[in-house]
Amino acid sequence: MLQTPYYLIDEARLLANMRVMDTVRQQSGAKVLLALKCFASWAVFPMMAQHMDGTTSSSLYEVKLGRRKFGGETHAYSVAYADHEIGEVVANADKIIFNSISQLTRFEVQSAGIARGLRLNPGVSTSSFDLADPARPFSRLGEWDAEKVEAVVEKISGFMVHNNCENGDFSRFDEILTEVEARFGHLFHQVKWVSLGGGIHFTGENYPIDAFCRRLKAFARNYGVEVYLEPGEAAITRTTTLEVSVLDRLFNGRELAIVDSSVEAHMLDLLIYRESAKMSPNTGPYEVMVCGKSCLAGDVFGTFSFAAPLEIGDRISIQDAAGYTMVKKNWFNGMKMPAIAVKGLDGEIRVARDFTYDDFEKNLS
Ligand SMILES: *Cc1c(COP(=O)(O)O)cnc(C)c1O
Repeated sequence: MLQTPYYLIDEARLLANMRVMDTVRQQSGAKVLLALKCFASWAVFPMMAQHMDGTTSSSLYEVKLGRRKFGGETHAYSVAYADHEIGEVVANADKIIFNSISQLTRFEVQSAGIARGLRLNPGVSTSSFDLADPARPFSRLGEWDAEKVEAVVEKISGFMVHNNCENGDFSRFDEILTEVEARFGHLFHQVKWVSLGGGIHFTGENYPIDAFCRRLKAFARNYGVEVYLEPGEAAITRTTTLEVSVLDRLFNGRELAIVDSSVEAHMLDLLIYRESAKMSPNTGPYEVMVCGKSCLAGDVFGTFSFAAPLEIGDRISIQDAAGYTMVKKNWFNGMKMPAIAVKGLDGEIRVARDFTYDDFEKNLS
């Protein structure tokens, strides 16, 4: 048995999501790009690349990774590029999407050889968490003023709008897209492609895929554009676990178990968004608070129900450890970084990457 901690990516589960990607591409005509900021574990890219059209990125390093490890169509986007980066970004991308008119103008000469787009901010979003709301007051994410955009529209061939956030409700998606159209529809008529961003949870159970695809197709036809989607979480949801072992048990008014991992180091998003980890199954008479081993007082995965008391050496699988998780792992407390293992379609588990003391030492100087 593999030594814990490790992330375990299950290719069979991944394939189930990829089949939805295939359906959406086929039925809607939209192109589907993986958002690397959510998930960049390239061990499974060869498999994903058979079902998705390419990648989109948030930086020079991501765009390079997309080109080298995923292939297909590579989109470059960043909130801001530096002068010394732009040459390499353009060399590694098929399209570049600027966040502002100012960046578009600044890099007009350098980017003349590839398709260019601009991010629009429609001022509405489905996010309820201020920290993650692209339409928050004074948001720096994209251009708001249609008149200013119209003045530079001949310099670009497309737009990107990203204002959905973990949105599993098709009618809400439909509604908010209608608002986007009311604001920017006249601009969409003037370009060749529109990316609707990520945050649409169309791989969720019972998502009305047919209605979703019809909406995308009608949008494409209406404006005469090619539509792109940029799923991150939707592509990899429910595919990966963080496998940990119980190192110690305490009773301090509650049953506590300490595991060989840490929320802050290995599932940081839970802390940022104040969420509990997911355990499956989570039933039984034994309630245990599962805690990390960092020295952060609040390093707690959550309180879960187990069929039997947890013993030292027991293994636990923490669910949904792919999105915004592996990309954010860090060396806090000098904790052993979880290995990355892949369970192939043949059921075999192989270690794609292990991390050692050397990696820790090299991470700083
Ligand atoms: C974060 C992001 C995505 C991916 O979002 P998910 O919620 O993971 O689907 C796509 N496009 C842009 C521009 C993003 O910022």
